[in-house]
Amino acid sequence: MTQPCSGGRIEVICGCMYSGKTEELIRRMRQVKIARQPCRIFTPRLDTRYSANAVASHIGSRLEAVPTSSIGEVLAQADDIQVVAIDELHFLVDEPQHIVDGCQSLANRGLRVIVAGLDQNYRAEPFPAISQLMAVAEQVDKLYAICVRCGSYATRSQRLIDGRPAPANAPTIAVGGLELYEARCRNCYEPAR
Ligand code: ADP
Ligand code: ZN
Repeated sequence: MTQPCSGGRIEVICGCMYSGKTEELIRRMRQVKIARQPCRIFTPRLDTRYSANAVASHIGSRLEAVPTSSIGEVLAQADDIQVVAIDELHFLVDEPQHIVDGCQSLANRGLRVIVAGLDQNYRAEPFPAISQLMAVAEQVDKLYAICVRCGSYATRSQRLIDGRPAPANAPTIAVGGLELYEARCRNCYEPAR
């Protein structure tokens, strides 16, 4: 369970696409704002699907956010705040270790650090930065979507090109929504080849 901020901590919100990661990040940050804790939300510049200056969930909840590309930009804008949130962590351009070190240093300085991101890419391989953060975090929440094929819990993001699984050698990052990705369970997920 989420605790009120009482010192440095890292919270990881992970899961596949459409699992509600951004909604959960927005829910926590609304509470932070109600508590009047100084805070800032960062959203990677790469993710311009909805708005450059906001985090927005697939069903339309939104909160103002600072567009950023790297963890360095987050660190440079964290001196005056108690709570920092980073949405879509997988879109940051830095080396994974650099992202982990940055989040650790913020938490060690006493900040509450909330990160949301995909735990696996479209090949169902773990994203390194979020995996490492899961290991060192105080709190990890793995969320699930609903499999579009069978209705059970979905844990995988299926990337489709003309209705077929994207090839394994496609770029790891491709920004898209329902036209490109489906939530699928382990059984219905078709591996990239
Ligand atoms: P994420 O950040 O994990 O991609 P969002 O918080 O942006 O997820 O959006 C979650 C919302 O997406 C859900 O509340 C639901 O309205 C919508 N949605 C669309 N497709 C699905 C699906 N297959 N399973 C669950 N929710 C879905
Ligand atoms: Zn399924």
